[in-house]
Amino acid sequence: MPKQARYKVVILGSGPAGLTAALYASRANLEPLVVEGGGGDDPTDVPGGQLMLTTDVDNYPGFPEGVLGPDLMEKMRKQAARFGTEYASGALKEVELGRRPFALTLGDGAVEADTLIVATGARARWLGLPEELEFRTRIGGVSACATCDGFFYKGKDVLVVGGGDTAMEEASFLTKFANNVTVVHRRDTLRASKIMQDRALKNPRISWLFDTVVEKILGGAGQGVTGARVRNLKTGEVKEVRAGGIFMAIGHEPNTAPFRGKLEMNAEGYLVTREGTTATSVPGVFAAGDVQDFRYRQAVTAAGSGCMAAIDAERFLSH
Ligand code: NAP
Repeated sequence: MPKQARYKVVILGSGPAGLTAALYASRANLEPLVVEGGGGDDPTDVPGGQLMLTTDVDNYPGFPEGVLGPDLMEKMRKQAARFGTEYASGALKEVELGRRPFALTLGDGAVEADTLIVATGARARWLGLPEELEFRTRIGGVSACATCDGFFYKGKDVLVVGGGDTAMEEASFLTKFANNVTVVHRRDTLRASKIMQDRALKNPRISWLFDTVVEKILGGAGQGVTGARVRNLKTGEVKEVRAGGIFMAIGHEPNTAPFRGKLEMNAEGYLVTREGTTATSVPGVFAAGDVQDFRYRQAVTAAGSGCMAAIDAERFLSH
């Protein structure tokens, strides 16, 4: 239950964007409330965001030996708490942006907010195979971020699932580390833009399995991913392909459902911010992190935009 009825800054989301916004807002004496999120039907919908589902994070500056995703989030949470950030568990249920202060209904109470920072993130789409979650979170070997995890697949064969721009980009990127990259796509034509397709199709280290879906991820505890059982949808042929890792690149979904019709979004549902700022279409509402970023999607870029959002909110309040 939040302590106050009205806050100068309410931050929705507790990933790197939300917690960095909280750090800056609390250091500016704005006593922010962070609504931590999580608790939905999806078992991966947890407070702390997508880094809670990763193991080693080697690309967050300041950790020369690397840091575990959940440890990094715990540190960020404590750092923001040190300056007076308050935390509320659960997610936003409803929001009214047609009045100011904004009215928010949370899992355990209602609050008003003079400014709102939306940092609810985005979730990667997954195939939904029964064993997928286990390989993503405990065993390892299944990832949705080549930039984050590609380095761990040095010299291995890897699969990339998907036929869009992300799949092309991830496949091309992975050839820097992997021995061979095989793109597995469910149709015989790629969705990706011509330029990205051409680049990937010309790359001799990328092989292709068209009209093909992954039916099962093979491997287990102790050995990680050893391959996949795939099915050709046209011929019905089922075979096993060997791979030390599988990258899912079948799209992302921003967590913007409560803001539909209330904040401007692009065709894919990402919040639109004014170029060079975190301002959304409603004055006093700011957006940071993956909820407005489909391009970079990194913890450090999310943290950077969280800092921007807190500074934008502070300036808005002082006018
Ligand atoms: P996307 O364009 O939606 O492509 C998703 C791909 O995954 C499609 O090929 C789709 O197959 C496949 N897919 C979806 N669900 C599947 C499932 N259950 N099983 C197997 N395959 C499945 O997503 P994206 O590639 O992440 O791109 C998202 C947006 O970001 C796009 O607008 C893209 O242009 C943009 N983007 C741009 C860049 C860049 O310019 N550098 C880089 C990355 C992304 P179908 O084709 O059969 O539907």
